[in-house]
Amino acid sequence: MAAIQRRAIRVRGQVQGVGFRPFVYRLATQRGLSGFVRNDGAGVEIEIQGSPPALDDFLRALRQPPTLARIDALRVDELPPDPWDENAFVIAASGGGAVTADITPDSAICAHCLAELFDPRDRRYRYPFINCTDCGPRYTLTAALPYDRPNTSMAGFALCPDCAREYRDPGDRRFHAQPNACPVCGPRLTLRDAEGQPVAVDDVIAATLERLLAGEVLAIKGLGGFHLVCDAQNAVAVARLRQRKQRDAKPFAVMAANIASLACWVEGDETEWRLLESPQRPIVLLRSPRPPGEGPGERADSSPRPPGEGLGGRADSV
Ligand SMILES: [Zn+2]
Ligand SMILES: [Zn+2]
Repeated sequence: MAAIQRRAIRVRGQVQGVGFRPFVYRLATQRGLSGFVRNDGAGVEIEIQGSPPALDDFLRALRQPPTLARIDALRVDELPPDPWDENAFVIAASGGGAVTADITPDSAICAHCLAELFDPRDRRYRYPFINCTDCGPRYTLTAALPYDRPNTSMAGFALCPDCAREYRDPGDRRFHAQPNACPVCGPRLTLRDAEGQPVAVDDVIAATLERLLAGEVLAIKGLGGFHLVCDAQNAVAVARLRQRKQRDAKPFAVMAANIASLACWVEGDETEWRLLESPQRPIVLLRSPRPPGEGPGERADSSPRPPGEGLGGRADSV
């Protein structure tokens, strides 16, 4: 049998906040390798020990990282085997060092979280801040690197036992998801009037939708700031928003729940529809078959924001 070897692996790129440590943990434990993975200022550091074929196989698999990750550089060095290695693989406490790692951008809700969001049996049913290792806010809640919960705006929200269990379970898709939250332990919605006083309502999203349909202009606090919103099909409400913003002609972005709900307003091709549904959810300029001034503007916007903002359009069906 080949002698045990140990390797140090340094990974740079977009490797924090993308489920990279859980990914490495799974690759290592599946192959019976030992050692550790941790974040530091420069990216991800791995030390791994085992048989040479298993180590080579691990390195091959490492080059196909999770969806949101991007490896810019990967350096492997041989180390002497560690006789004190405890024959286990762990996610170690983050190290410090000069910060050169990339901060991962926010990513729109993934298909798994979207299914949970509208599943009445799920404990995150209609929870607007749902996220996992494959989706959710990153950049807008990161105050410092390494990317760990105490360095994010989630630091003030202690995980409840259910969320803590998911966070610790290597088989769970929220294993080491730093912004993990639920209605019990995470941020909540509040509705406030124009003076900033809280308004007592049973269901903030339903009450917001009601006000939008009544022609009001609302400010929704999203991940990166406030969005001023109104019903794009209500000409009086749009005119009021234009007046308040002193924006006479420049188009507003139109927010839509999905592509199906956009189809009667704009024309798009395959590439444009794909862009609209990509994890980046960019603002996409689309052709409108209607003359200017008729219909909800000329842009379709679905940039990453709390899934709660998409709940309005579904409120009648939940
Ligand atoms: Zn997700
Ligand atoms: Zn929780």
